[in-house]
Amino acid sequence: MKIIVPVKRVVDYNVKVRVRSDGAGVDLGNVKMSMNPFDEIAVEEAVRLKEKGVATEVVAVSCGAAQCQETLRTAMAIGADRGILVQTDAELQPLAVAKLLKALVDREQPSLIILGKQAIDDDANQTAQMLAALAELPQATFASKVDLAGDRVDVTREVDGGLETLSLSIPAVITTDLRLNEPRYVTLPNIMKAKKKPLDTVKPGDLGVDVAPRLKTLKVAEPAGRKAGVKVADVAALVEKLKNEAKVI
Ligand code: AMP
Repeated sequence: MKIIVPVKRVVDYNVKVRVRSDGAGVDLGNVKMSMNPFDEIAVEEAVRLKEKGVATEVVAVSCGAAQCQETLRTAMAIGADRGILVQTDAELQPLAVAKLLKALVDREQPSLIILGKQAIDDDANQTAQMLAALAELPQATFASKVDLAGDRVDVTREVDGGLETLSLSIPAVITTDLRLNEPRYVTLPNIMKAKKKPLDTVKPGDLGVDVAPRLKTLKVAEPAGRKAGVKVADVAALVEKLKNEAKVI
């Protein structure tokens, strides 16, 4: 049983993102890049399924520039068996990524595709849903528990006010939520081992996919700065301000 895990290279979650002065996007010069955190959870889940003997192979896939190889090596250091880089310098929007992944799903015939619920750079939360639609596969998003048995997978999802469990036939598409697992630390020996694992590179054209953007970003702006607070002398002054200035009591 094969699992495909798409991993995106994004600005590291610790970086304070700066908007470019021309408002055309985010400044990516000299910025630390890492694997999208939800994708790390996806790789961890797939590797755990392999360690349990349920899965036999974990394939990490990344779409983007040559540097995505680093992201794939990290996935392989966590435990993925091999990597596929769909290399392009073009701007990739979720629909293009979903089409590339669909082509790889046709080629690789996995039983599960586990994605992150969203990429922390574009916050789109679209790729998995589009992939499921294009590949005509069942989908369960925001998984907090995955139970794979036979030809079905039970996925528990956090919904408003409780938990929902869905049972899907496989092959299926799943996206990970934060509480699914805690990814392991990548050890030096595993980083070394990952360097020897196979990494194939293909181009979008090899997969017959046109990745031309369909959306245009008009403007990116920083959120408005917060106003400075004030200190009040006593409770009476606070109540007076809440009543007459903020008008909340
Ligand atoms: P998004 O729809 O952009 O929020 O991304 C959701 C998920 O799709 C991510 O967590 C990844 O698992 C996958 N994904 C999105 N973009 C890429 C990419 N360029 N390469 C590999 N996987 C991707």
